Amino acid sequence: MHRSAYTHVPFCRHRCGYCDFTLVAGRDDLAGRYLTALDQELNRVAPPTPGGRVELDTLFLGGGTPTRLDGPQLDRLFDALFRRYRLAEGAEVTVEANPSDITPDLVGRLADAGVNRVSLGVQSFDAAALTTLERDHAPTDIPRVLETVRRRIDNVSLDLIYAVPGQDLRSWEATLDAALALEPSHLSTYGLTFEKGTAFWSRRRRGELITPPEESERAMYAAAMDRPAAAGFHQYELSSHARPGRECRHNRAYWCGDDFEAFGPGAANLIDGVRRTNHRGVLGWLKRVEAGESSWVEEERLAPEDRARELVMLNLRRTEGVEREDFQQRTGFAIEGLLLGDLEEQESLGFVTRDDAGVRLTREGRFVADGVMAAFL
Ligand code: SF4
Repeated sequence: MHRSAYTHVPFCRHRCGYCDFTLVAGRDDLAGRYLTALDQELNRVAPPTPGGRVELDTLFLGGGTPTRLDGPQLDRLFDALFRRYRLAEGAEVTVEANPSDITPDLVGRLADAGVNRVSLGVQSFDAAALTTLERDHAPTDIPRVLETVRRRIDNVSLDLIYAVPGQDLRSWEATLDAALALEPSHLSTYGLTFEKGTAFWSRRRRGELITPPEESERAMYAAAMDRPAAAGFHQYELSSHARPGRECRHNRAYWCGDDFEAFGPGAANLIDGVRRTNHRGVLGWLKRVEAGESSWVEEERLAPEDRARELVMLNLRRTEGVEREDFQQRTGFAIEGLLLGDLEEQESLGFVTRDDAGVRLTREGRFVADGVMAAFL
């Protein structure tokens, strides 16, 4: 039985130009239908029962913007979840939040519902980068926002984005320093990507957005590793840095290859080696669930070897990499038997290292992680 669950809340005020997530912007009128459909989708886990039946170690509400829901809507959402799920002792409950949505009332509702971790979409402390990213808060808002959250929830992660058009290394370092000065428990640092179909993709093609040069992006990733480390954080994943004991348990479960459930438009679960993906359109998902149909539109039953290779990719994201014994236990494959030639090649290039415990990316390998992982597929 899964011990982790994800719920996708697909509402945003505005679609930021770089974002290709499943969401609707400016359609808060759909929230009531979404909550009714979500309640229905949750029936596949268990019928509604006071106190919930299925025990969870981690619950993650992501989006979109979960905090786009108003107070009563959030109460409905948690009520639907906690009539199927109950939380294990010490469970982690994370909500992604937009800084401009944070109020004492919202934080109080989240904390009362059991939320004990907030992932705050800060993105940058540089006003120009925030404007480019089309975000609706100012850098000067963040200290007050953080203080409001911490009155009830002390485990706060800040999400930051680097390699924003117009941003240089100095500006990114200043953002990292400003974030670290606020002493969060966790930092997530993502390089901006240009996904096909987004406004940013088209604007880059038209020459309106110029990405920082490759060497500059590399230096920014190096700073994302080194500055948090110097401030007492430990990098436990390619983009994730935590104070001791503050790693995101939900994401760790995902990178370990544990089963997890997932609800809401576009969400994909993994149960007993089968991945099932919900309809990616918000209205498409709504209509299917409202018609009493399954929300799943794709089912992928991975062959044992494909599953093992996928687990290599997930495990390699972690600092501890692929742990030999755990990997063999989960997949039935010995890591060398599965990857030998490719492994030796990546090792000779200096991108991976091996020992009795397992296989890990080197520091150099982290800069080219996508390429290394592709070599193992
Ligand atoms: S707020 Fe986040 S989820 Fe919403 S459009 Fe912007 S980047 Fe995407």
